Amino acid sequence: MALSFDSVNKPENIDAKDWFNWTWQMKNGPKNRAEFSRYIELTKDESSYFDSDNEIFKSRGTPYYMSIAAKNEAVRKIIVPRVNEFKSGNQEMKDPLGEEMHSPTARIVHRYPDRVLFLATDICSVYCRYCTRKYFTGNDQALINTEEYEMALTYIKSHPEIKEVILSGGDPLTLSDKVLFRILKDLRSINHIEIIRVGTRMPVVNPMRITNELALGIREYGPVFLMTHFNHPKELTLESSEALSKIVDHGIPAFNQMVFLNGVNNHTAIVKALSRQLLFLRVKPYYMFQCDPSMGTDHLRTSIEESEAIQKELWGKLSGLAMPNLSIDIPNGGGKVGIVPNFEITREDGKRIYRGWDGKKGEYINPPTFQHELPPDFSEYL
Ligand code: SF4
Repeated sequence: MALSFDSVNKPENIDAKDWFNWTWQMKNGPKNRAEFSRYIELTKDESSYFDSDNEIFKSRGTPYYMSIAAKNEAVRKIIVPRVNEFKSGNQEMKDPLGEEMHSPTARIVHRYPDRVLFLATDICSVYCRYCTRKYFTGNDQALINTEEYEMALTYIKSHPEIKEVILSGGDPLTLSDKVLFRILKDLRSINHIEIIRVGTRMPVVNPMRITNELALGIREYGPVFLMTHFNHPKELTLESSEALSKIVDHGIPAFNQMVFLNGVNNHTAIVKALSRQLLFLRVKPYYMFQCDPSMGTDHLRTSIEESEAIQKELWGKLSGLAMPNLSIDIPNGGGKVGIVPNFEITREDGKRIYRGWDGKKGEYINPPTFQHELPPDFSEYL
């Protein structure tokens, strides 16, 4: 049976022209206790968060996403702040990925040889409580200034080893079409840039942003890959599924990155449902990340053992197309490391014995390693 997705019904007291307008969604979301209370009866833990004058991270939702959170505890944990954010005990870092130390110029993070992150804006339409970039996101809530923009472009232009630019932030789809297309155009005009990625949570929290004009404009500067960020199947609604279809129908490949979060998605069935539903919508589940030790996330983080157990349970039972890669970002900028279950039982005399996902054993006779001389026309890939 084909999968179907429920609509987030527009409240009767709001005009359709407002509700389906993404900038209205951005301007009219809750930012403080009184505004959050209009959507959800706050618990004591949630309400007390707003007592502090020293909030770690701004709070913000969209009316659309708050309507989902009001009906679902898991989504609520993603978006509604709570006093636990002030309680630390485990590893807690302002910049867990060490991005500031790998930033050669403002707005650029250059950690891997052939890729850079370009932080095009610090604005998001919601502020996810587990955000890994709290040192940057939502601080100035301003557009990038011309000087920083030019310096970032100059850096990319002067490093021909950079083949891929990942537009991130903040959320780059909070920029207007005009500003976004200008950035894509400028990047596409750099000869050595092969791939552009756009990392965004807009299809999840403000799917009204994904219009045909936007998709057409992005396609013009392709190949552009859209990296979405769904964490829970209840985030997949009729509206978000239509947004994803617009993206994929315009020939823009879409991938999803999920973060393991306590009480949100740390269950095999939830990851399975999310992955299958995303794949059905032609979005490849790409990563399931261990949550970074960002400040205020102790209560949201889950153990590596739990992630490994979920991955092992899914192995073989979930189509390889739907299986996200389990990965950890090594704190302080060590980069990503992948985790895969170990199926090898023994290795001896060129023979390896494995036990597969359903317990069946078998041997693989390992052929010798041959030297292969590289044809000269591939030397640029060394
Ligand atoms: S949308 Fe992304 S950058 Fe913005 S708060 Fe959420 S996780 Fe952080």
